[in-house]
Amino acid sequence: MIKSERRKEHDRQLCLLSPVWGLKYVTVYGAQKSRRAVKASLYTEAVFHIYDNRERHQASLVDLNIISIHENCLSSLQTSFAASLMSEIVLTQRGEDSLAHYDLISRCFDLLNEDNYRIIVIQFVIRVLATAGLVTDFTHCPVCGRAYADDEILGFDSSLASPCCHTCDTMNSGLILPPNARRYIRDSLSCQLPQALGFILSENMQRRLLRYVIRLYDSACSVMLKSAAALLELDSLD
Ligand SMILES: [Zn+2]
Repeated sequence: MIKSERRKEHDRQLCLLSPVWGLKYVTVYGAQKSRRAVKASLYTEAVFHIYDNRERHQASLVDLNIISIHENCLSSLQTSFAASLMSEIVLTQRGEDSLAHYDLISRCFDLLNEDNYRIIVIQFVIRVLATAGLVTDFTHCPVCGRAYADDEILGFDSSLASPCCHTCDTMNSGLILPPNARRYIRDSLSCQLPQALGFILSENMQRRLLRYVIRLYDSACSVMLKSAAALLELDSLD
């Protein structure tokens, strides 16, 4: 469950990410009032039993068999904001590649804690972009085709919505990627998630990369991630 919203006086509408059906909206009638209503907390992973009323175009939750409630996601502000951002990203993908996103988000929810939340979000964002076939190449400039020099700072080409070499930069260094950060993205993307989480990154680099990947996602997908502001705000406070 990646979203839960109050509907009318007593109901809730849940958004579920199904590996098979993509995004599925279901209503829990009487969730605010009735003790007998099925209870499910945000970020719960479960087998959800749904009654699909095709005539009324409504689906309601009948029951669920819990796999994990991912209570760690709600254990701190950092983890809550990170889980909320990852959920919002999945929502912006509109149910495309739902199997890959389900697999990724459930593993990220499993592993998320107060110490690793920046790295988890960074990995999550670059992996969703890679799945969508966006900004996958951190070795060659997609505009001129030239291989990046080892110490090159990348710019951004707004028409391709992709990082590019410094000569092809169309944003006046407004979205730059330093060489060590580029190597981190390139190398960690070539490994499975558990190995990628083992890469050592200084806290300073984590903060910079977190900002970078959020702006990269916004630019590449033409969205404005609302949950990102809360997460970045925390970073500027501590
Ligand atoms: Zn170029």
